[in-house]
Amino acid sequence: MSQQLAQKVAVITGGTSGIGEATAECFVAEGAQVVICGRSIDKGEALAERLGEHCRFIQADVTQEADIERTLAFALEQFGGLDILFNNAGGPTRGLVDSVEADAILYATELLFSSAALGMKHAIPLLRARGGGAIINNSSIAAIRDNQGDLIYSAIKAALTHYTRLASVRLGPENIRVNCISPGAIATPIFWGGSARANTLSAEENDQKMAKLQANLAKATPLTRSGIAHDIAQGALYLASDAGGFVNGHDLVIDGGRINMFNES
Ligand code: NAD
Repeated sequence: MSQQLAQKVAVITGGTSGIGEATAECFVAEGAQVVICGRSIDKGEALAERLGEHCRFIQADVTQEADIERTLAFALEQFGGLDILFNNAGGPTRGLVDSVEADAILYATELLFSSAALGMKHAIPLLRARGGGAIINNSSIAAIRDNQGDLIYSAIKAALTHYTRLASVRLGPENIRVNCISPGAIATPIFWGGSARANTLSAEENDQKMAKLQANLAKATPLTRSGIAHDIAQGALYLASDAGGFVNGHDLVIDGGRINMFNES
């Protein structure tokens, strides 16, 4: 069977856990050469070893522009170019309307928005050199509905979705497609504090949290099962591959229908 990403080079930020990890597995299985970045050297190197010679890990903090630039340069150095960028890294933020703090807004902006905007900036020259490519930003249904994340998280994801649409118009003539995914509730460590917290727990504790979370999410989804990271990886594969070749500026909601259980906010 032909592989959908044969000859392609992809960078996946936050590739050491949850959606990023599942997407790295999927992209490698589909023939891509994949660079994953994240903060944990142990987790990143273990995953790269498990996925084999077509996957490389680089430690990087996406709130730092120099780290983003270094990650993309690493893809060029290791695999000779870039065809796909999945701006996926993210984590929980905090912000109640009556008590939000300036440093929390700044942190959320750097983690969820600047990381993607600067990733795009540094990827564009590499994508141009290949005659085009695909950028995928990981947004959220929190960008569209109330009660799917805290206020700051939701507003900044909305900015990311809109930035995706605007960038798709600017970059479309250069054959660079820019899309985003809006996952619904997907069972990953983001629900118990993000991967940094998960790294402090035992495998058994993480498994228990995952089982409990999946049971709860299944009750809040029309399809009566929890979303899993693999569901989002499949969406990223579609947007990255030739199957999505005429898809540009799109916000791909993948949520098992959860969004329809809530009113417009
Ligand atoms: P996760 O905690 O399992 O994975 C997040 C990844 O991002 C990890 O690899 C983590 O190390 C990395 N990361 C976090 N901060 C980073 C930093 N400063 N520099 C580099 N890497 C960093 O969570 P996930 O659910 O897989 O989240 C992935 C993306 O999906 C996030 O952008 C999140 O906002 C988005 N999302 C998740 C859900 C969900 O229900 N799980 C829903 C909507 C959107």
